[in-house]
Amino acid sequence: MPTAVRILDDGAWISVDDERVVSVSELWRLTDHDVCNCTTADFLIEGFVEVDVTETTILARAAGQCVTCGASAVSGWLPVGRIVGPDRRFAPLSSGDVRTPQRRRRQ
Ligand SMILES: [Zn+2]
Repeated sequence: MPTAVRILDDGAWISVDDERVVSVSELWRLTDHDVCNCTTADFLIEGFVEVDVTETTILARAAGQCVTCGASAVSGWLPVGRIVGPDRRFAPLSSGDVRTPQRRRRQ
């Protein structure tokens, strides 16, 4: 069964299979990224812009700000979490995980 991924509340939440799983105000560590010139950006998530799901990965583009240099940007496709197990549960990345923008799979 396909996983249903949506943005709710004007970008404040990502919902997976009708359950709110990730909200704004998280700090994500980004490397090899496109939001600013910091080698590793501490990116404060202010709003989700787009979401998508590949076979096993939930991806989102997020608006936010690097708290190190102050740059505001909309990110590329960042991993949010994975779909795991035979019951296709959502397993979020933890805030300490370093995230790298990914190319979205063509569907
Ligand atoms: Zn920065």
